[in-house]
Amino acid sequence: MTSGMMQFVDVEKAMPDKRGAEFRRQDFREIYEEFQPKRAAEQASRCEQCGIPFCQVHCPLSNNIPDWLRMTAEGRLEEAYEIASSTNNMPEICGRICPQDRLCEGNCVIEKGFESVTIGAVEKYIVDTAFEQGWVKPVVPSVERSESIAVIGAGPAGLAVAEQLRKLGYQITIYDRYDRIGGLLVYGIPNFKLEKEVVARRAAMLEASNIRFELGVDIGKDISFEQLRTRHDAVFIGTGVYRARELAVPGVGLDQVVPALDYLTASNRKGLGDDVAPFDEGSLNADGKRVVVIGGGDTAMDCVRTAVRQGAISVKCLYRRDKANMPGSMREVEHAEEEGVEFVWQAAPEAFLGDGVVSGVRAVRMRLGAPDATGRQRPEVIPESTFTLDADLAIKALGFDPEDLPTLFDQPDLQVTRWGTIKIDWQTMMTPMDGVFAGGDIVRGASLVVWGVKDGRDAALGIHEYLKTKAALPVEELPTAVAAS
Ligand code: FAD
Ligand code: SF4
Ligand code: SF4
Repeated sequence: MTSGMMQFVDVEKAMPDKRGAEFRRQDFREIYEEFQPKRAAEQASRCEQCGIPFCQVHCPLSNNIPDWLRMTAEGRLEEAYEIASSTNNMPEICGRICPQDRLCEGNCVIEKGFESVTIGAVEKYIVDTAFEQGWVKPVVPSVERSESIAVIGAGPAGLAVAEQLRKLGYQITIYDRYDRIGGLLVYGIPNFKLEKEVVARRAAMLEASNIRFELGVDIGKDISFEQLRTRHDAVFIGTGVYRARELAVPGVGLDQVVPALDYLTASNRKGLGDDVAPFDEGSLNADGKRVVVIGGGDTAMDCVRTAVRQGAISVKCLYRRDKANMPGSMREVEHAEEEGVEFVWQAAPEAFLGDGVVSGVRAVRMRLGAPDATGRQRPEVIPESTFTLDADLAIKALGFDPEDLPTLFDQPDLQVTRWGTIKIDWQTMMTPMDGVFAGGDIVRGASLVVWGVKDGRDAALGIHEYLKTKAALPVEELPTAVAAS
């Protein structure tokens, strides 16, 4: 066993300092400060260096967590960075926004009675330090290849596949209908979880790696999918899921009943300095309003916390199950509670009230009934339990479904599941269409950044194999080169 590790008996689990709720309510800055070097080393030294590290097993990227923790504990940060970046294309982002309580940290098997090792915050610290020290470098492939790959979507999945393929020397063009690089990292997730400079820093590194970005280009409208296939040797679809689920209740069409992503995108754009008329005119803005958010996932948590920061008079979150059964990360719920959000558990909207503009939400109380096919208890209405909440802004955060891509891309051969997600062969990440690959939310349904990165990396292997077979590349170009770099 490495000396200096296993300090969990003497050192308590700690996160970096969290700014007080009264301060963080005032701005959109990230809520955690950076670890101080000594503190990061101390926290890393709590790790037991398990023979079978369950933290790693439950990280979608199988990150070599014990090794980077040991390097951090020993002050060997550059080596820690090399390890962290060998399996993850955006470790500083995952370190910030992975729901660690459900993934690596939630599965840390440190001795019973002791809290898990702090993993995400150490990952973030390592890579933020690497950026500061200039250790993060653009990709310079050892060979340049002539084959080109089109990537549709500059979100985590698209960025990961692009970087992995660029390492192998392929020519990559990423097309995105947005005007900035990052997908939901920029326009969905708010600054207080992920500051936009962090995404821009990563994007700049990819641009410096000679990955081409064609922004403001909507595939299916500005350029047809067929044209892309003609221009490039392979295509990766990483378009995410953007069709907001609707509520079928009376009054849903009233003014100021808005979809979550419209609301969050307006807020993020404003933070980036864009002109956002609906925000400036007050419609996609919670300032001075009584806000009711409907839903219990990460998006709902981001909405309630954004509304607090915009100066809402009150913010309530209506969710049909109880706290223990909500899909959002428990850590986010706690942050929201600290910031003054009121949760109305086990309640569902019955109607939006108002004359032209919303003035209230009529809701009913729910209880958890018999389990459904997935084993999850089904919420059912408690009769005669109606109540009303005042609201000047109601935000619908009920999840997202994929757009109808076969129609949008005019590609009937692009097969979809019954949920509308794209069908792929998980071994190769290829769709039934030759040379067309896919990954991220458009394949999994609304998921996580870390899974997008994983899919991008796997698809890079699949695309390399595909192109190698087509062009009969030299045998030494094994796909493991991608996995290991
Ligand atoms: P996206 O990030 O959605 O990127 C897809 C890109 O494709 C977009 O840039 C889009 O403009 C582009 N595109 C789509 N169609 C076209 C087209 N026809 N032509 C050109 N471009 C196109 N995950 C976490 O891990 N932690 C969190 O805390 C977290 N919080 C979240 C909060 C919110 C509000 C939301 C909505 C999601 C959150 N997620 C979180 C989920 C995470 O953001 C997604 O799982 C992840 O971004 C998916 O990556 P992706 O690359 O598949 O798609
Ligand atoms: Fe944990 Fe996410 Fe980092 Fe994996 S990528 S170690 S799950 S924070
Ligand atoms: Fe260290 Fe916990 Fe991972 Fe074990 S499970 S190696 S203690 S972080």
